[in-house]
Amino acid sequence: MTSDLKQPATACADTAWQDDVRAGVRHVRDLERLPLSPAERAAAQAAAASHKVRVPKPYLDLVDWNDPNDPIRAQVIPSPDELIATEGELGDPIGDHQFSPVPRLTHRHADRVLLFPTYQCAVYCRFCFRKESLTSIGRGYTREALEPALAYIAGHEEIREVILTGGDPLSLPDKALEEIRARIEAIAHVRLLRIHTRVPVALPSRITAGLVAALQGRLLVTVVTHFNHPREITPDTEEACRTMRQAGFVLLNQSVLLKGVNDRVEVLEELCRELMYRLGVKPYYLHHGDLAPGMAHRRTTIAEGQALVAELRARLSGICNPTYVIDLPDGGGKVPLAASHIESREGGTWRIRGQDGKVREYREVVG
Ligand SMILES: *Cc1c(COP(=O)(O)O)cnc(C)c1O
Ligand code: SF4
Repeated sequence: MTSDLKQPATACADTAWQDDVRAGVRHVRDLERLPLSPAERAAAQAAAASHKVRVPKPYLDLVDWNDPNDPIRAQVIPSPDELIATEGELGDPIGDHQFSPVPRLTHRHADRVLLFPTYQCAVYCRFCFRKESLTSIGRGYTREALEPALAYIAGHEEIREVILTGGDPLSLPDKALEEIRARIEAIAHVRLLRIHTRVPVALPSRITAGLVAALQGRLLVTVVTHFNHPREITPDTEEACRTMRQAGFVLLNQSVLLKGVNDRVEVLEELCRELMYRLGVKPYYLHHGDLAPGMAHRRTTIAEGQALVAELRARLSGICNPTYVIDLPDGGGKVPLAASHIESREGGTWRIRGQDGKVREYREVVG
């Protein structure tokens, strides 16, 4: 039973995040009070037409406004470079649409589906690979909108894992999350609920007791966060992660490799180390920059990415290392990109480069 004394305190903590949303950038016009360059101001207007501008206060507070190349600013403030379309970029860079049998669902791998409860986010990242899906207005959550997707999942017994993505599922109210969780949980063959979200990074105050309770039920819950830079790890994000871990959720992180944000080994090293050791979040994937429109200025080459992850592998323990992957266009899926350590093979004899760089011969011995 909740005592009368405790109730207001809980209610207060549960709504503090709303103030963080209100005090942040909610519309492009809110950028007027920020110290932007004239070029950024002009870009913001134009960019907002194709990809919304939104930054909650906790994330905005991380920006160093004296640094025009600040890695936090680069992720959320539109840049004039965003307006440059480069040949080869794609509106649907990872082939979501092609594998969508019903609205709001993508089914590419037999055992798991992506479910899109909303196409809205708490923060809009300039490099988003789904920005084309996020532009259409009025695509929030309703019971009816998910009906065909849930019927599809119920009709496919091979589906064990439902991945809520979007949009950002944690931008939804507790009640909606609870309803979605209960509807998925009612499908007996589903084993695990996975949530892909930037909320713990951009709006950590939203990770409340109420939100966590809404997700707890029969299913194992895995939350995949999206930290890209060690400066995003703060006492508040630490608390948000602790709340989720204490609720029994498994925490993983995916990052996007972004030029000028995290394409230095020192930055990735600190990010991955602190994610694991401070937040208890296992680095899962490091994504090569997708072919999202207007993002050429943030993409590295694959060779640069390979050199970075080879160095990370040498510096960090196994559990701190993410897998460097590319999500192939046309639905090829996520494929590991790290350079191979295998130099050559002759029958059962392999020549393999060790972590020290020296090549050794390894002879297979099998019964
Ligand atoms: C990324 C993705 C998944 C999840 O893949 P994992 O390797 O299990 O993390 C599932 N379906 C689609 C369509 C995806 O793009
Ligand atoms: S939170 Fe995710 S879906 Fe939303 S803009 Fe950022 S990367 Fe895209």
